[in-house]
Amino acid sequence: AMSSPRTGQIRQSTKLLNVRYDVRGPILEEAQRMEAAGHRIMKLNIGNPAPFGFEAPTAILKDMVSNLPNAQGYSDSKGIYSARTAVSQYYQSRGIMDIDVDDVFIGNGVSELISMVLQALVDDGDEILIPSPDYPLWTGATTLSGGNAVHYRCVEEEGWAPDLEDIASKVTERTKGIVIINPNNPTGAVYTREVLMGVVEIARKNNLVLMADEIYEKILYDGARHINAASLSDDVLTLTFSGLSKAYRVAGYRSGWVAVSGPKHRAQDFLEGLTLLSNMRMCANVPAQHAIQTALGGYQSINDLILPGGRLLEQRNTAQRLLSEIPGVSVQPADGALYLFPRLDPEVYPIEDDERFVIDLLRQQKILVSHGRAFNWPDTDHFRLVTLPSVHDLEIAIGRIADFLEDYRER
Ligand code: PLP
Repeated sequence: AMSSPRTGQIRQSTKLLNVRYDVRGPILEEAQRMEAAGHRIMKLNIGNPAPFGFEAPTAILKDMVSNLPNAQGYSDSKGIYSARTAVSQYYQSRGIMDIDVDDVFIGNGVSELISMVLQALVDDGDEILIPSPDYPLWTGATTLSGGNAVHYRCVEEEGWAPDLEDIASKVTERTKGIVIINPNNPTGAVYTREVLMGVVEIARKNNLVLMADEIYEKILYDGARHINAASLSDDVLTLTFSGLSKAYRVAGYRSGWVAVSGPKHRAQDFLEGLTLLSNMRMCANVPAQHAIQTALGGYQSINDLILPGGRLLEQRNTAQRLLSEIPGVSVQPADGALYLFPRLDPEVYPIEDDERFVIDLLRQQKILVSHGRAFNWPDTDHFRLVTLPSVHDLEIAIGRIADFLEDYRER
């Protein structure tokens, strides 16, 4: 073995063979090339509030800054006590009684915790039920853990509600968990109690771990109500994910949590594994942990953005209206989150490769959106845009999308 040549290619591990994260793939590289060449691109591709002029509540900034001197060392690997207490009290106020300080893990964003949870839970060949369309980290992290992402359908005509029959029909001996994203990225759907009860029932019957990604729970429109999945049962092991990136607009601070509820006594082994992985990464960024208590306990300024007159609501209304005015385009109203997932009627727009379609839009109109298949949607008839730009910028951007689609129809 020692005589093998040392000049060959250095290759990525085979673990990455089927791992995809196409929302930041070749399209973004093309946009960066164009920007380097001097083009100004309107980016409607990533749910990152700060570059669109959104600011965090000043209390959060002040708290982090004033705590910097106390945040020099590693913290407890699960997170600082004040942050975990704040999370546990928050869920108690939402009707989830069995989340104690020790049931909360703080992470560098929800992203890190999704990866940790799946690494701790999934054996080679295990199956995780994941929505289609999804937030693609769920699929990518499942694959990286050696598992199989099995996608269940969400039904566009029903406001993108999960298809409970489809979910039930896809449960096998190997199914370990089920993921719901509520409010949903990329569709904006907010699930009813009936749908959530249906999911909980499937998890209960098949002894599945329920993973509820609720990072958008406070971004709701037109009086939509969000129900935490964990509040609907005490006999289904539920992992609730949320954090500061969206409602508190500090995505760059990398601060999120996962809270464990339900029959923890049956999950001791899994939770030991999760604790091991938590220990191995030492702890989450400590300064950002100090912001959690202030965020959850302070003035909820997100409401000023989503209630009538609020910027996020106005933008979502504008984007919905302008998109649905384009011939052959339809869009389900978003009840929450920061995205729209419009449909391009295949009769009008016979798109073969939606990634190609999005790159053409970028080259011709300098507008960056994400193609539907990046969200594990099986067809080439959707794309996602973020509703973060100002009304003025959305008018320009969607105007250019309309121009591009007009050319496409006339081809
Ligand atoms: N989950 C969903 C549904 C998301 O949309 C995002 C980010 O866009 C994340 C998780 C990750 O958030 P973060 O790692 O910033 O907490």
